[in-house]
Amino acid sequence: MEIKSLATVAMIEDVICDVCSSSTRIPSYGLQYGRLEAQWGYGAQHDGEHYQVHLCELCFFRVLSSLRRERMVNGMFDDDKSFSADGFGLISADNFLGAN
Ligand SMILES: [Zn+2]
Repeated sequence: MEIKSLATVAMIEDVICDVCSSSTRIPSYGLQYGRLEAQWGYGAQHDGEHYQVHLCELCFFRVLSSLRRERMVNGMFDDDKSFSADGFGLISADNFLGAN
């Protein structure tokens, strides 16, 4: 026997970009956003601090571009090819179902 009752469940209706304040909801496709997050622990200068920034697609790629440029500058005079900016941060492509 199932006994049911109505419950109030909190749902994420929208995620607002923390940089440009735009909605990350794409009509008919849902929420599309990136997240920059860090939780610093013992030994870190920011021990105990937890950061989380939600980014729309445009702001995410602006941040990624800035980091990519910084990476290129840091490795400019190194022969080490691991400083290449190609695919920086990209874990997978053509992953349309969102599987890891
Ligand atoms: Zn944005």
